[in-house]
Amino acid sequence: MLSTSIDKLPKTASRTTQRLHAMGVHTYEDVLHYYPFRYNDFSVVSPIGQVQPGETVTIRGTLESIKVVPTRSRITIQKATLRDDTGKIELIWYNQPYLAKILESANCISASGTIESFGKSVIMKPVEYEPLEFIDSKTKHTGRIVPVYPSVYGLSSKTIRDKVCHVLDAVFENPEDSIEFIPDDILKEYGLISLDRAIQTIHQPTKMADVEIARKRLGFDELFVRILSSKLIKQRWSKEQTTAPINLTDARKKEIQSFISRLPFTLTNAQQKATDEILIDLQKSNPMNRFLQGDVGSGKTVVAAIAAYAAYLNKKQTLIMAPTEILALQHFATISSLMKKLDLKVALQTGSHKDIVSKKTAADFDIIIGTHALISAKYDFRDVGLVVIDEQHRFGVKQRALLKEKGLNPHLLTMTATPIPRTVSLTLYSELDLSLIDELPKGRKRIKTYVTPPAKRTAGYQWIAKQIEEEKIQVYIICPLIETSEHESMTSIKAAKEEYEHLKKDVFPKLNVALLHGKLKAKEKEEVMNQFNAGKYHILVSTSVVEVGVDVPNATIMLIEGAERFGLAQLHQLRGRVGRAEKQSYCLLFTTQQYRNSSRLTFFAKTTSGLELSEYDLKLRGPGEIYGTDQHGYSDLKIADLTDSKLVFQAKKAVDSYLKKYSVEKTPNLKRIIDSYQLNLIDKN
Ligand code: ADP
Ligand code: MG
Repeated sequence: MLSTSIDKLPKTASRTTQRLHAMGVHTYEDVLHYYPFRYNDFSVVSPIGQVQPGETVTIRGTLESIKVVPTRSRITIQKATLRDDTGKIELIWYNQPYLAKILESANCISASGTIESFGKSVIMKPVEYEPLEFIDSKTKHTGRIVPVYPSVYGLSSKTIRDKVCHVLDAVFENPEDSIEFIPDDILKEYGLISLDRAIQTIHQPTKMADVEIARKRLGFDELFVRILSSKLIKQRWSKEQTTAPINLTDARKKEIQSFISRLPFTLTNAQQKATDEILIDLQKSNPMNRFLQGDVGSGKTVVAAIAAYAAYLNKKQTLIMAPTEILALQHFATISSLMKKLDLKVALQTGSHKDIVSKKTAADFDIIIGTHALISAKYDFRDVGLVVIDEQHRFGVKQRALLKEKGLNPHLLTMTATPIPRTVSLTLYSELDLSLIDELPKGRKRIKTYVTPPAKRTAGYQWIAKQIEEEKIQVYIICPLIETSEHESMTSIKAAKEEYEHLKKDVFPKLNVALLHGKLKAKEKEEVMNQFNAGKYHILVSTSVVEVGVDVPNATIMLIEGAERFGLAQLHQLRGRVGRAEKQSYCLLFTTQQYRNSSRLTFFAKTTSGLELSEYDLKLRGPGEIYGTDQHGYSDLKIADLTDSKLVFQAKKAVDSYLKKYSVEKTPNLKRIIDSYQLNLIDKN
């Protein structure tokens, strides 16, 4: 019954089914999970003779008359008189010319709305109405707490309600056919009501207080299904054999140790711990799936480099993928220098550096660094032992599948752009093992951040010029985000060019200023970055392309124009470009008069922890927008709130006890949900 297609709904126009499909509602089960977003309480039914102005009520009676009143404008008014044993009342609608037809043939009518006074009499402009066969027939749209559904694609809440009522009747017709999928003992332990009751209640509550109890159950389910699904993926992965077991003999461990001791710095404790966790994983015969989280500047790259070195000692290749060319370039420079003097071949492979790695030579390199396109490239790699994905929130199911298609099942290390709240990693990433770098290298000073209103702009520029002269430091100036599209539009580029000209000519005429934007050719970008890195430019004016990962330790001032237009995570990333060495660094948030006291910017200025920022952001915006969960099929958190850590931890505990005692395979109601969830995951990823 649950998997019945909505095409089978009786008395339903094909236009309606098409619209339901477009809303992602394909089966009866989907209909049940299309929840109302609010309710109108029309449960008070009153005799017509007793209604009072201001009351919200339902009235029932027979139709005495209905007429269309023409007006001078295009508006039409429909007036009906409704009568019961106690009196009569006028009902008024606007612009519903079809109404007379619907109502004329009805024996009785039930109408809900608020009573208004009109001269000496009272009227109602019904919010809901429905024809009844008998005066005491069961009602759907009136005479009860009436759910209001999000109506999209022109489908009215009333139509949706109608379909929901039908599906509820059909699914719950036979009380034996429960849709429940969580065992009783778990429901009891967490004080949850049955799914059958929760679904019936959310659509047809008898009292408003019950709605919360239903929502708790349904929200719990959303988390339960996601966590369980991740755990099942994890179980499946753990049974797989890696194509690249890495054997760390004592001699090799020594070599790794000496590699670490030759680094230009000592690893922080957190880096060391993450490294140890990774090295343990690499020696296992099933592939690593590890998620390395650490704030910007916490030193994730070197941890990845150590892992790559371990793979190299086993004659395995490592692929390192970054989201942008500039970043790949940067990694190439960093890793080449870490690996110099070693007999190890590092290659860069991006759109503009294609010549190095070819189908033929791919086997010759030990570390190949490129953009995310590497994964789909058609090279004959020799023996990929490790894949590192940098600065990406999500890498997992789909990418594993892609690698597998090539016969690869390597160890996998994903690194985040920004630390994410524990509730989020638990729910959305729990198929991955987590390593956390929760400290910054020693000697880093807190980046001083100031919100700078227009009045202080000139002083800000003067201060920057002085800093450059006295401290010999370098500066980033980020141009405002004109549009929020992923790719830079020509408008943004033009604005950046103008800003650059203005800064160069009018503000910093004596300084060397460079411009970087996404539409430059890769070679040009590279040239600009190299020159900036080498200290040839004082100031780098850029669109937000320097957003992730760029590492120029001598740059200590980050000026962000139009700061109010950036998201918190993005601001944090931008700010993370400075403060990469021991010098005091600064971040100036240039903003308009209107935003000078913005609570978001103020919070950002006083908070340097990426984790705290992402928790704040999660409360502010919800996970869909931040983690791109919508695009990735992780959405449909219609009810559950990822800031509700109590519920998240409960769901996690429940999943653990479920897996100990029960089997999804033996619970068809759950299996169907998990399967469709996982399919959706792969489709959209
Ligand atoms: P992120 O985690 O943001 O990717 P990076 O790997 O780019 O950070 O490292 C930031 C900077 O810190 C780099 O310049 C790197 O060389 C330096 N670094 C990394 N680890 C340490 C350490 N333990 N001590 C001092 N500096 C370090
Ligand atoms: Mg990085």
